[in-house]
Amino acid sequence: MTVEERIRNRKIGIIGIARSGISAALLAEKHGGIPFLSDSASKEELGPNLELLESSGFMFETGGHTDKLLESDYIILSPGVPTSIEIILKAKEKAVPLFSEIEFASWFCRGKIVAVTGSNGKTTTTSLIGELLTAGGYDAFVSGNIGLPFSEISDKIPQNGIAVVEISTFQLETIEDFKPDVALILNLSPDHLDRHGTFEKYKQLKYRIAENQTADNLLILNKDDKEIDHNQIETTAEKQFFSLNSTDATVYASESGLYYSNSGTANKIIETKEIQIPGKHNLENVAAAVCAVKRFNVADAKIAEVLKSFPGVEHRLEKMGKVAGISFVNDSKATNISSVICALRAIETPIYLIAGGRDKGADFKLLIGEGKNKIRTVVAIGEAKDKLFQELGRDFSVLVAETMEEAVELLFEQAIPGETVLLSPGCASFDMYKNYEERGKVFKEAVKKLRNGKSENEAVSR
Ligand code: ADP
Repeated sequence: MTVEERIRNRKIGIIGIARSGISAALLAEKHGGIPFLSDSASKEELGPNLELLESSGFMFETGGHTDKLLESDYIILSPGVPTSIEIILKAKEKAVPLFSEIEFASWFCRGKIVAVTGSNGKTTTTSLIGELLTAGGYDAFVSGNIGLPFSEISDKIPQNGIAVVEISTFQLETIEDFKPDVALILNLSPDHLDRHGTFEKYKQLKYRIAENQTADNLLILNKDDKEIDHNQIETTAEKQFFSLNSTDATVYASESGLYYSNSGTANKIIETKEIQIPGKHNLENVAAAVCAVKRFNVADAKIAEVLKSFPGVEHRLEKMGKVAGISFVNDSKATNISSVICALRAIETPIYLIAGGRDKGADFKLLIGEGKNKIRTVVAIGEAKDKLFQELGRDFSVLVAETMEEAVELLFEQAIPGETVLLSPGCASFDMYKNYEERGKVFKEAVKKLRNGKSENEAVSR
């Protein structure tokens, strides 16, 4: 069936009235489909999202899903919609096809698709691939879970363009024809098991990224990750590997350099110390990204140029420069303990840590091992502050602050030039902020205030 046939005059149900759902509706309508949107949230909760729909005459319902959805030729699911909800069970019973928004958007993309999934590092790797392809002269379009829905841009991508799409497990649950030219599985660790049930089930969903790939496509895997079971991945795609341990991987990165092997010859692309983005975990992301763009023959010199300056993505070990010789790093995206450990490993100076927020059942004691010789002081914030005090108070000096500003000021008083103040909360942000982005912005504002408040003289005298 052509795309035209799949869309024109079709009744297209869309669950979820947020950015992805609205983008999918606009795309469907533009190509002659008849969208009908549905959301469990009330009109008041959805607020401004509805204005556009109302003013453009779209059909929609709010405050719950009615059986009207079941009259659709097929239903598109926004990324956050669980497949366990009643209306979806009913749709399955009536054999109404279900597609994720990524699947739907991909029907319209004329360019090549690079799809990135994994438990951690997706946003960083996706952005880096976008930068590297752009430096290589390609028209690269970054989208997906990263903030811009694929549906918003997929039909604008020309034949010689490349879509770089960040894909969550949720989106892979309801694919049918999604066929990336290059797919990456960065790593696998238990995540979202509340939704997917077992780790095995979660892995199987991740492997689906490669199920429609054919021999002319490429699947890139992390050779060091023991959780990725190569034999379980059903695909005919060519496989390539990146590794920090095996020199026989297509891209191998060690402390000395980043190497790309082609027909048995390994070329050093860059000295590792020249790579700007910090941490071993990011070296894995870099290796994965390089492997992907080498498929498009991006020149070594262009890759090196980007890696020397790519600072990473906002709120992920984001360096904010120094105030009075003290470095400040914003890692607000670190919402679990393994991310905080990544941050502790990545920073070589003594660390003054701001942690806390809404506890997700974290075991903060896991920070003791990595932090023992590194953490000087912890300032605990948010709902988790008492737990942090109880679990870390014997091993570190733990102070408590009511606000981010107070936390930043407390640690600025304690740190000395050459040391680092790090926000890496290990908790969700929702007790104090709208999301981790807002938390990071508040931290950055506090540092800015500090910077503006300190005169040169003061800086010198510290
Ligand atoms: P995602 O989009 O998958 O959530 P991000 O690129 O936003 O990933 O990074 C989120 C956090 O995950 C980072 O702050 C870091 O702590 C951790 N992380 C990033 N890359 C990796 C990796 N390759 N392995 C393990 N942890 C990582």
